[in-house]
Amino acid sequence: MTVSSFTASLVNRILDPRLCPSCQHPLTGTHKFCPACYQRLLNVINPCRLCGLENHSNDDICAACLYDPPRWQAMIAPWQYRGLTRDLLLQLKFSESLYLAHSLVSTIAGHFDRSSNHPEALLPVPLHRNRLFERGFNQAFEITRILSSQLGIKLDYKTLTRIRDTEAQAGLSASKREKNILKAFECAPTNYRHVALVDDIITTGSTANEITKTLHRAGVETVEIWGLARVVKY
Ligand SMILES: [Zn+2]
Ligand SMILES: [Zn+2]
Repeated sequence: MTVSSFTASLVNRILDPRLCPSCQHPLTGTHKFCPACYQRLLNVINPCRLCGLENHSNDDICAACLYDPPRWQAMIAPWQYRGLTRDLLLQLKFSESLYLAHSLVSTIAGHFDRSSNHPEALLPVPLHRNRLFERGFNQAFEITRILSSQLGIKLDYKTLTRIRDTEAQAGLSASKREKNILKAFECAPTNYRHVALVDDIITTGSTANEITKTLHRAGVETVEIWGLARVVKY
């Protein structure tokens, strides 16, 4: 490195001291993660259009969904929830780091973008107001806010509310999750016909299922489920 290029890189570093949010390595260009960390964020391979899990059939819908389709109309949750993705999403939930939220969402936003038929609005999975008061941060809201500005789709955090302060879903079995979340949400009168519900992680889909029921009852025809990561079993 010549003296002038060294000076230039030092000046750049001072003017733009962006670091990989995972390993703190300096970043180059517009990348949000260093190449080594980026490679460790694994996508679900050939995801099913309805459940987001790896699809072994030649169709875009997996055999399980053809047999017993979920209530919602589409799911996009590009990353596998494990390894570094899991560590970073846990960090996001507990650190309130907007920088991390921005890095994660910017890296994956292209998976939600398409040329036509965007949802009319993005609705974050709401926290109950008691929980929001306690935590001060709803990571689903932050993710939705960034996606909304990057994709140019309206953010709506008012139409859907959580009316029951339910026990945390983590650690509950699938059937207990369903019971726990029953009638926990309310949808204000709406003219939407097509929305996307946004969360950080899609686990069993019981929250998504319950909210989809609520939205369908309110007249929304097409509900997409968007998450950054899908819990997968290997
Ligand atoms: Zn890194
Ligand atoms: Zn499926």
